[in-house]
Amino acid sequence: MENFLINLGGLSNTDPRLLAAALNASSNGVVITDHRQPDEPIIYCNDAFEKITGYKRSSIIGHNCRFMQGDDRDQEARKRIREAIRNGEHCQVLIRNYRNNGKLIWNELMISPIRDESGAVTNFIGIQNDVSNRLDAAQKLEVERDELDEQFRLRTKSLEENEGYLQGIVETIRESLLILDSELKIIDANQNFCTFFKQKKAEIIGKELFSLNEGQWNLPELKELLINVLPHNNPFEGFEFEEVFPNIGKKILVLNARQMRLRGRFQERILLAIEDITERKVLEYRKEDFINIASHEMKTPLTSIKGNLQMLQKIANTKNDMVHMKRLETATRSVQRLENLIYDLLDASKMQSGKVSFNFEKCGVSQLILESVEVIKPDAPDHQFSLTGNLDQIIEVDIGRLEQVVINLLSNAVKYSPKNSEINVHVSSIPGFCKISVKDIGFGIKTQDHKRIFERFFRAEDTTEKFPGVGVGLYVCDYIIKEHQGSIWVDSESGHGSTFSFTIPIKRLGK
Ligand code: ADP
Repeated sequence: MENFLINLGGLSNTDPRLLAAALNASSNGVVITDHRQPDEPIIYCNDAFEKITGYKRSSIIGHNCRFMQGDDRDQEARKRIREAIRNGEHCQVLIRNYRNNGKLIWNELMISPIRDESGAVTNFIGIQNDVSNRLDAAQKLEVERDELDEQFRLRTKSLEENEGYLQGIVETIRESLLILDSELKIIDANQNFCTFFKQKKAEIIGKELFSLNEGQWNLPELKELLINVLPHNNPFEGFEFEEVFPNIGKKILVLNARQMRLRGRFQERILLAIEDITERKVLEYRKEDFINIASHEMKTPLTSIKGNLQMLQKIANTKNDMVHMKRLETATRSVQRLENLIYDLLDASKMQSGKVSFNFEKCGVSQLILESVEVIKPDAPDHQFSLTGNLDQIIEVDIGRLEQVVINLLSNAVKYSPKNSEINVHVSSIPGFCKISVKDIGFGIKTQDHKRIFERFFRAEDTTEKFPGVGVGLYVCDYIIKEHQGSIWVDSESGHGSTFSFTIPIKRLGK
């Protein structure tokens, strides 16, 4: 930050710490992007930007601002921003952005170019103002007006009919449902809740959720989430917990909660949906155990095959037997691929249980990438590799693990792009961070899969049949990059190639 501010010509006489403090005191979100680097990465954000978006600085720096738009890409405001950036102009738009928990923010965004002495644009400054509350009030008024109209139109329709209909849905749904009031007391429960937990409705109505049974629901984290649902209309999804319940034993449950809305109006009621995922989890554990045991069992015979192949290669070499040497090379590469896969599977399983340790050392970024390219090249003789950007950077990383990330990204780029195409590795320098991007011109990834591809065992539907793989490579990459306190993401459109980027702090940050 200080380096950046020192470079701001007109402000160079002011103490940079004062400027940083001023920016951090602002309630508006401020970001600065670097226009000279590919994809306009963010190189600075203030505290308010972190607060408004809910993202941590390490997941913001190096990214293009589009991550805030989620899947809501088709917005007029986006086009105006793109045009302003292309033409180096100022612009002001109202844009829908999303917090890291998926909640909508109406963002009044102003962007302005910064130019150097020659007039060329070097950066853009974006000032964002979260106007969701202001719009909420206007929207509420609109809803109320619509509601009056609707009431007028529907005044002949009986209310009981509607509520009966709603009740029908609530009772038919397979999940257990509870309705809580603002004090988190149970107002209603559907039949499935009573059947699943073997409890009578009359015994639970009016009781506080946390006092049910023997305190199985009394979890501080759940409490925190639930008390925030009503005041801020802050729904939550996917809260998972495991408890032993009276009458039904050990269960793994996943909870979703949201504020209830009836006829356009928010109610002081929380709808809590409870899904039993015990069986699904048991199957997952079994699958995991199987993969673990199978991979371990494969390691020993594979080491022996590798050793014997090496010996045969030596013999063929001394006899100058080119035919056998070529075949043995192919066999060795296949064994190497199998070994990488087994290590990825074992790693994924260790990472799941957090049993991986990291060893941080200083190293040159270009050397690390070149070594990774050398590993990949024999398997991709027809692809062209290029390395561009700021290659002199020194980073403090677990070298073996970071090589694993680059190798995984390169081997995916090879696997999912046509032969003879180019794969570019670009290194950018972002204040405090190093950003590495691997770009291919393959068939790309649909927007709805961009987050899911980093999940364990996830493979995009259109790749499962055409390409070999098990879907753990990117999960492993994500874990390794998070351990380095950086972030990893993809920019891609179906049919137009993919760019996988990750950032890592230049110096190891304390945890
Ligand atoms: P695998 O490649 O073994 O399936 P990964 O975890 O490495 O596992 O990748 C997960 C999924 O992400 C892939 O199945 C594929 O659908 C998608 N993917 C990853 N890299 C690319 C790429 N460069 N181009 C297109 N799709 C990709």
